[in-house]
Amino acid sequence: MQTTRNIPIVVGTRNRGKLREMQYLFKQFLPRLKNVQVTGLNAFPPMPAIAEDGASFHENARKKALAVAEHTGCMTIADDSGLEVDALNGAPGILSARYAGEHARDEDNNRKLLDALAGVPAHQRGAQFVCALAVALPGDLLGIFEGVCRGVIGTEPHGGSGFGYDPLFIRTDVGKTFAEMPQEIKNRISHRARAFEKAALIIVRYVDQQLTK
Ligand code: IMP
Repeated sequence: MQTTRNIPIVVGTRNRGKLREMQYLFKQFLPRLKNVQVTGLNAFPPMPAIAEDGASFHENARKKALAVAEHTGCMTIADDSGLEVDALNGAPGILSARYAGEHARDEDNNRKLLDALAGVPAHQRGAQFVCALAVALPGDLLGIFEGVCRGVIGTEPHGGSGFGYDPLFIRTDVGKTFAEMPQEIKNRISHRARAFEKAALIIVRYVDQQLTK
């Protein structure tokens, strides 16, 4: 008789909003993937902070995924993501989480962004969320995948769900900010969803290999 066991996959984040989105993406893109337990870093003993000091989303995602895989001994998925605003030449970019300072809250970052765009007309408020998603085993980077989602920055926050810049990021096709959308809509079109979709095959291959060992 074959014994079933759960294969742990770690999402390299302590951000609950991000973990929730990733768990949702597993269900959405890999609904038939069985015997997998997707957890965040909080399920493991503390590890030293990883300095996100790379020059690109890719570099940071790679560094995070390898460090967390080493620490946990598990397949790890780590993303580095952020908002690039056209009128600000791509800022806040890789500094998105700390745009208003090292320990800035989402509200502080959103306020700073609105101030930076004060007086900028609607047709020049284009922006994109970018996500680099790295998949790694201890000592082995399996791949890095990128997803982009374009939108427009509003003039005031709207909506209560999501995290980060969601209340300011409007998808004109949906007519709502990310923070106003049901999770299933954001997760169909988001930068993270687009990157995850590209990573899905590698994840499935790994799980299959583990189950047939
Ligand atoms: P990271 O955890 O270093 O990848 O930081 C990403 C930062 O970019 C977050 O703290 C948010 O400010 C912003 N960000 C990334 N993805 C999203 C999203 O889906 N919605 C809103 N803000 C996001």
